Amino acid sequence: MDCESCESPTFVMALDMGATFSGAYLVEMRYCPDHDLHRVYGERRLDKFRTAMSYDAGNGTVTFMGPEDTAPIDRQLQYFKVALTGREDWQGSQEAPAEHEWVARHLQDLGVALAPATVVSEYFRGFFAHAWVALEMAREMSKPGAKLQVVVTHPACWSGGTQERFRRAVQDASIHDSIHWEDEAIAALRGVVYEMRGRWDHYAQGGDSIMVLDCGGLTADAGLFRFKGNMYDLAHGSSSVSSRSQLLGSLGIDQRFRDVFQRLTRSALSPESREVLARDIANDERLAMERWTTMLRRPGQNQIQSGMSVRIAGRTHHITRSEIMTQVFSDYISGLVSLVSCLYEHEVSHRGVAPKVLLVTGGITMGGLVLGLIREQVRHKYPGLEISLPQLQFRWNIVAYGAAHYLVNGTMPME
Ligand SMILES: [Zn+2]
Repeated sequence: MDCESCESPTFVMALDMGATFSGAYLVEMRYCPDHDLHRVYGERRLDKFRTAMSYDAGNGTVTFMGPEDTAPIDRQLQYFKVALTGREDWQGSQEAPAEHEWVARHLQDLGVALAPATVVSEYFRGFFAHAWVALEMAREMSKPGAKLQVVVTHPACWSGGTQERFRRAVQDASIHDSIHWEDEAIAALRGVVYEMRGRWDHYAQGGDSIMVLDCGGLTADAGLFRFKGNMYDLAHGSSSVSSRSQLLGSLGIDQRFRDVFQRLTRSALSPESREVLARDIANDERLAMERWTTMLRRPGQNQIQSGMSVRIAGRTHHITRSEIMTQVFSDYISGLVSLVSCLYEHEVSHRGVAPKVLLVTGGITMGGLVLGLIREQVRHKYPGLEISLPQLQFRWNIVAYGAAHYLVNGTMPME
């Protein structure tokens, strides 16, 4: 049989630009829809790295920062993806989102006059160039008949307007003539199910459904997959999958903590001293945020059992555990739980069967605290639901991984 498509390599490069971390994944396939061929030949990945640009206030330009690049802290631009969302609804609140205000101020303080879409576009130009080198694409594409497909992921919960702004920004980067767009919720679900293939027999035999909760910097995605016999069907729009997604991220938690710090500063110091000590306070805030971030992402659940101390203008102040729980975490955790409930209840009312397991992934759940809080609340609500263990905290990007496997996805026998 002489079929060019069956014999030549198709490379699928998936790029996932997160609000806080980005990653890429490459799959080499023999792919031919005419002969129903979709076989993986090889894979390569780019580990997660911080999403950041370095900016030059002098000439007003921004440059992509790869995992090895460094720039002084005050010249690093982060979270700029958030600026694309404009004033979208965060955590179900109709008010202007604090996170967005904060990001706008961050861009302004740095003196960045570029439009958010321009920054995103520059980021993609650098991201693609970096991935091209790191994934050795020049060598791969020199193979006879090699074809390239580029997949870019985006949050499912963005409004049409934001998705449009994002797609245009990526297209302006001119990285590839045609880009396949993937929904992050579906990509995360596919990534987890596919990566753990071979471990689902028990659930597959029962025709069970499982859920994946991916907690990102900007969004939270919940996906549900229903086993039907011993075949996978994780294609977008398949009757075996459903998803829910919300603008609800770890950036929000960080912002709540920053609010707590700033309230404390206001109550501890008079307006006059706040003005005089502005520079010291800004430095104290930076140190408090660093400690907060480290603590949150550290494994183990008891880090804030006794609360947390912060320094403000030379004096130590204590924030109690219950203040942290009510003022920082409550919206976030209940938002995550309601996403899970939404899928769970839907499954129960449509099939009369409850999902069997919830797998939790995403950067913030690497620290035991958030995972512990999710577990506590979900268990309380659904005692029969099994909750995943942290071996699912992939070092690489599970969203990029799932997106890169989108062609593998028709239906395939389990291993
Ligand atoms: Zn063929």
